[in-house]
Amino acid sequence: MEKTTRTMPAHKHIALVAHDNYKPELLRWVQEQKEKLQGHFLYATGTTGHMLSKETGLAIKSFISGPMGGDQQLGALISEGKIDMLIFFWDPLNAVPHDPDVKALLRIASVWNIPVATNRASANFMVSSNLLKSEVVIEIPDYEKYLADRT
Ligand code: PGA
Repeated sequence: MEKTTRTMPAHKHIALVAHDNYKPELLRWVQEQKEKLQGHFLYATGTTGHMLSKETGLAIKSFISGPMGGDQQLGALISEGKIDMLIFFWDPLNAVPHDPDVKALLRIASVWNIPVATNRASANFMVSSNLLKSEVVIEIPDYEKYLADRT
């Protein structure tokens, strides 16, 4: 598919997700990065979001719990260009019942070319970037053109 561009705003829309064994790790990371994160719009799957906002006081829009559809809700927003970054501490050592949804979320983030961090080191790199606080132009699939060419 041909490409077009999308401009991410300076105030990013950031999705936060952690599988159960990694929730303490994500909480520790969010606490460390609270200052940087609070200038942005935060979203999360249900259990992750409620835990993070209770423990950190950050304003987070929480969707349904991941296994109940929350991963898919985030994926839908990514495909609409409404999420700019995904921090997803998925569990590489244990099976989860919603593995197809996990794959789908990671896949759709790749399709729409948003930055994804799946562990502490990559998340640190991401929030250390100057791009976090400025507008950023990214390439995305030119879906409108794809549609026009097919009709
Ligand atoms: P949860 O979902 O935040 O509701 O635990 C995380 C996930 O996607 O598994």
